[in-house]
Amino acid sequence: MIYLDHNATTNVLPEVLDAMMPCLTTEWGNPSSSYAFGSRLKTVVEAAREQVAELIGAQPREVVFAGCATESNNAAIQAALKAAPGKRHIVTSMVEHSSVLNFCKALEKEGYRVTYLPVDSEGLLKVADLENAVTGETAVVSLMWGNNETGVLFPVKQVAEVCKSRGVLFHCDAVQAAAKTEIDVRQVPADYLSLTGHKFHAPKGVGALYVRRKAPFSPFLHGGHQERGLRGGTESVPLIVAMGEAANQARKRLPIYDEKVCALRDMLEDAILKGVLNTELNGHKVQRLANTTNITFHGIESEALLLLLDQAGVCASSGSACLADSDEPSHVLRAMKPGSTASRQMIRFSLGTDTARADVEAAILAVKQATAALRN
Ligand code: PLP
Repeated sequence: MIYLDHNATTNVLPEVLDAMMPCLTTEWGNPSSSYAFGSRLKTVVEAAREQVAELIGAQPREVVFAGCATESNNAAIQAALKAAPGKRHIVTSMVEHSSVLNFCKALEKEGYRVTYLPVDSEGLLKVADLENAVTGETAVVSLMWGNNETGVLFPVKQVAEVCKSRGVLFHCDAVQAAAKTEIDVRQVPADYLSLTGHKFHAPKGVGALYVRRKAPFSPFLHGGHQERGLRGGTESVPLIVAMGEAANQARKRLPIYDEKVCALRDMLEDAILKGVLNTELNGHKVQRLANTTNITFHGIESEALLLLLDQAGVCASSGSACLADSDEPSHVLRAMKPGSTASRQMIRFSLGTDTARADVEAAILAVKQATAALRN
């Protein structure tokens, strides 16, 4: 198998499995219990919190564990809205993940007004559009760091500055950017920032929300006193430990994106753009994550190409894995290139730190053979 779909999910690293294993076998107590067999796990959870905090330059107290980033995204937006009940306006973009877009659509039904900022044909966001959209009514701005379909990076530092100067809370979905590019909440002062473990080699089912000290926060899940009362529910100690170790590994692996992944991504991209007729890059060539390339194959349906690639052992995708079972063309590509067929004729390849040159060579061959067969 040649796995080029790391933006969908990643494999669990052996180090991560080793770290979580005791909590699945011998150390299965409840951290809230009064006896040592349970309560000693509090220390384990706090160690993981420190590791996740370190990945993003935060204080451990600013990290709240969650079940996934969908929860983190929903929780952050809801907390910001609750903190300013008189403000009924949200600013986001047309290319956010469905966990933000669909929550915003649900909020519209409750009477909130939502501005969906456009992007240009390269997927870039104009800060001037944000400045024009924010009003005295705006409670929260929710914009992603790196796009899951194209890898395009938003100008999050400037976004944070605009929000700060206008007194509006800023939530950043950093799910794709985390562990692939440096994130430091001291440099990019977002109020809330979402992460999920399964995009950087922890298992699925654990996320985190960074909540800046003094940023308003009310629980999304009401329950027990876990997570200092900020998120009810017995802690999933094995998954939290896994996310901590994955964050630790991610910090060590970060330089690999510049040293290796970017060159392999470019090799794949260049070979396809030069070697396969009627192909086109989607997304800004430079301002994007080092591991992602999104390419339109004009005249070829994404699904047909993905099927042949799958038969050749190559895993790639035509956009967000969360929407893969819907017939909808990519909302990201539609926002970038309205009226174009690109949204139904594109493939996203996303590499990982373990992707080898041989994987890329085999993928290039598979793409050439599949496109030749489909165009025949
Ligand atoms: N945000 C982005 C940008 C994503 O790519 C994803 C996952 O695909 C999510 C949020 C949701 O993450 P989770 O699967 O942990 O809910």
